[in-house]
Amino acid sequence: MTRLCTLVSGSSGNAVFLSHNGTRILIDCGISGRQAEACLCGIGAEPSAIDYILVTHEHTDHTQGVGVLSRRFDIPVVASRGTWNGMCIGGIAPKNVRIFDNNDQMDIGGIGVTPFDIPHDANQPTGYRFDAGGRRLAVATDIGHISDGVRAAVSGCDTVLLEANYDADMLENGPYPYHLKNRIRGARGHLCNDDAGEFALRLVRDGTKTLLLGHLSKENNSERAAFATVANILERGGIRVGTDVQMGVAPRYHASAVIGL
Ligand SMILES: [Zn+2]
Ligand SMILES: [Zn+2]
Repeated sequence: MTRLCTLVSGSSGNAVFLSHNGTRILIDCGISGRQAEACLCGIGAEPSAIDYILVTHEHTDHTQGVGVLSRRFDIPVVASRGTWNGMCIGGIAPKNVRIFDNNDQMDIGGIGVTPFDIPHDANQPTGYRFDAGGRRLAVATDIGHISDGVRAAVSGCDTVLLEANYDADMLENGPYPYHLKNRIRGARGHLCNDDAGEFALRLVRDGTKTLLLGHLSKENNSERAAFATVANILERGGIRVGTDVQMGVAPRYHASAVIGL
């Protein structure tokens, strides 16, 4: 049995829970240790039972609680070398520092984990694809644009957590200063709802059955806008949302529904 859910999702903090045959993984922990413990207990998972924390990149909305959880529960932390260099966490036991230099597949507690480069303004940011008992899942957020590498890594996955960060009009007309708008919509920033929709269409045509839209901006998006934009693009492409693909939006402050495979 494989289970996936987000604990929190958005610019205010990100954490994803994945379990497969008794192995429990957190992908990112961008909330405080205390919040993370509460979220895990809320889905019936003991924080002390987390086997690994995988980190996508060093930004605080992905790393705030990583050090606390690792120190408190003796959890190995897996990240690219660049991400490790950028993370401001200390006191991790040397045996729990797990660095990868290339994106070869790793075996993590019986789950095949393949990192892939994501175009984002961090040291060495990576998404992750998981091969778990014949099922494939991917965590693909903080993506400035859909690069060939992202497309190759995520295509063919049964279940995808896909970034839908901002609505282009809301960002354009919103309160952010010009340089920040440009950072977000730049090639190494975040993915807009329209681009998420176009990519989602390709993914579903390639066999993706479950999509969870995540990492929504608080100021420049809404659950309704993200869902509607992606659903419209899918349906214009002949995909029936709810029939051909199940789709949801990851809540900002609490856990999503658990996706079971
Ligand atoms: Zn980031
Ligand atoms: Zn982020």
